[in-house]
Order: sequence, then C-alpha cells, then structure tokens
Amino acid sequence: MNFNPSEIASQLAAAAKADVQINKPLAPYTSYQIGGPTAVWVAPAAEGDVGRILELVNRNDLPLFILGRGSNVLISDRGWDGVTLYLGNNLSGVTFDGRMARALAGTLLLEVVRAAVKRGLAGMEQLAGIPGGIGGALRMNAGAFGQEIASTTRSVKGFRHDGSPFQAARQDITFDYRRVPELEDVIITSADFGFEESDPHILSGRMEDILTLRAKKQPLRYPSCGSVFKRPAGYYAGALIEEAGLKGERIGGAMISPKHAGFILNVNGASAADVYALINLIENRVFDRFGVKLEREVRLIGEFD
Ligand SMILES: Cc1cc2nc3c(=O)[nH]c(=O)nc-3n(C[C@H](O)[C@H](O)[C@H](O)COP(=O)(O)OP(=O)(O)OC[C@H]3O[C@@H](n4cnc5c(N)ncnc54)[C@H](O)[C@@H]3O)c2cc1C
Repeated sequence: MNFNPSEIASQLAAAAKADVQINKPLAPYTSYQIGGPTAVWVAPAAEGDVGRILELVNRNDLPLFILGRGSNVLISDRGWDGVTLYLGNNLSGVTFDGRMARALAGTLLLEVVRAAVKRGLAGMEQLAGIPGGIGGALRMNAGAFGQEIASTTRSVKGFRHDGSPFQAARQDITFDYRRVPELEDVIITSADFGFEESDPHILSGRMEDILTLRAKKQPLRYPSCGSVFKRPAGYYAGALIEEAGLKGERIGGAMISPKHAGFILNVNGASAADVYALINLIENRVFDRFGVKLEREVRLIGEFD
C-alpha cells in the first residue's frame, strides 16, 4: 500500500459529506457474505459528493472500487487495498412522474420494479428477484426472462473515473449481454426510466409468477452471486457444468449447487479462495470436456492467486 488510509480518510471527510471509515470489512455488503476489508470506505449521501471524492482519489492516484449492492462480486479474502466508493442504501430513492421514474444508483432494483408495478407501469416486472441496485443493474445490463434493464432506460447520469460529469441518453449507450461498454468508465449516480401503461393486477400477477419460478429453479437458501458465468453462445453454462459431472462438488465451504449448477454457493463459511478454486475447476473441466471457454459474469475484486 503506497498511501496512508487514515490520512486519505480525513481528506475525504473534509472534502465530501460522506460516511468515511478505514479497514472496514466488506463481506457484510455482499450477497456472498465473503471478502476481506477495504483500506478506505467512503459512502456519500448525495450525487454531487461523488465528483469531489473522485477528484481526491485521482489526485492521490488511489485504486478505486465501486460497490453497489454487492450481488455480483467476489471480493478477495485479502480485501481491497484501496478506496471503496459505496453507492448502496446511502444513495437510494425513486420518484415517479407519470410514466417516467428517476432512481438513485443505490436504489434496489426490486424497489423500483414493485413501485412501477403498483402504478400499472410495465417494462421491468420480469426483473423482479434480481437482487442488486440500479447502478449495478445498469453496469451489468441485468436481465431475466427476456427482459433487460436496457429496455426501460431513458438516460444515465454520473461521473467518469477522471471526475468529469457524465450524462447519456439511451440511444447513445450500447447495451450488450451483461456488458455495457459506454458505462465501463462511469460511476453511475442516477438514471431515468420510461414505462408503458398497463394493468397493475396483470403486472403484479406476472411479477409474482416470476418470483415463484425463480424460487423453484434457483438455490436461494445459501449466499451466492447468482450465475457465476455468462451464457455461452449456443449453450447453457449450468447444463455444461452439470454434464461435466460437477454438480454438488465442494471445496472448503463452497459448493456447486446441486439444484442449478451455474450457481456456486457459500454453504459453510466459504472463503473467496474456496469459491475461486471452484470457478477454476469449472472453467478447466468444461473446456477439457466441451472445448467451451466460459466467461465470468461475477466480478472478481482484489487479489486472487
Ligand atoms: C440470487 C441471485 C440471482 C441473480 N439473478 C440475476 C439475474 O437473473 N439476472 C442478472 O442479470 N443478474 C442476476 N444476478 C446478479 C446481480 O444481482 C446483478 O448483476 C445486479 O445487477 C448487480 O447489482 P449490484 O448493485 O449488486 O452490483 P455490485 O455487485 O455491487 O457490482 C457489480 C458491478 O457493477 C459495478 N457497479 C455497481 N454499482 C455501480 C455504480 N453505481 N456505478 C458504476 N459501477 C457500478 C461494480 O463495480 C461491479 O463491477 C443475481 C444475483 C444473485 C445473488
């Protein structure tokens, strides 16, 4: 580490209205419940403070990690040797105006989905059950059952890593499968969404069906990050892993789900190293058996051997 965390923390506290801490454990902020501490933690309460934080991070040339609701990350057991900019429940809230909604980055996707459904606004109901926040959902172009967050997105606001403000309309953003090139360098602070009018009862029924289906198909009893791998063209990652004979395989406290082989679960105090070892086992075995190179959907944060 080539910086003094306490010094950076006091500079951050002076520069922005934010909760600033040092050596803070990250595991409680992830759906995996895994990961070591971050050297510096900064959680601003307003969009405008993000710019000031970035300015300081850049001036000191500090490694930066943006943490949303932590449902698609595997954080190293050694943690993050830099600054974690948390944009979760500290920067949360959604407001509706007719068929439009504006949500802060940390708002839970499910909160927006439920509020839209209640108002009879269609376009997001099939995303119910995806556990992240709005910022993470945009960054990943989260989707399920043929619907993606891209379809309701109207504009995205935030800052580039260099601290300059960013604002883009939907038509200027390419939303690929779980990848959004134009947002890779962006810290998203809020976004606008547009919906179609519909019947709240129909939408609510559709949403409940999706939630039931997810509970039936997915292993939701144990901490996980959902599907570890992206869907390879022409295949399903879960089916390949199952056919490779890896269902139920365990390393330490981590296990490949016997219910859905695309999920690696934290069944008994797993370390990041345990999960990482299973990721490597899957990648190697699937490549050896089928010649398919699986691409990770989960984001690995920090150092892995
Ligand atoms: C049980 C379970 C089921 C899941 N099912 C699905 C599913 O059906 N479909 C699907 O697409 N995903 C699914 N996921 C994965 C995950 O929920 C999504 O990828 C979600 O959108 C991630 O949002 P997050 O806020 O948790 O992001 P995080 O995990 O906090 O971050 C993910 C990435 O986005 C970046 N990021 C986060 N916030 C911001 C921001 N404000 N600005 C810039 N970058 C940011 C992070 O740096 C990181 O690279 C599932 C996960 C679980 C645990």
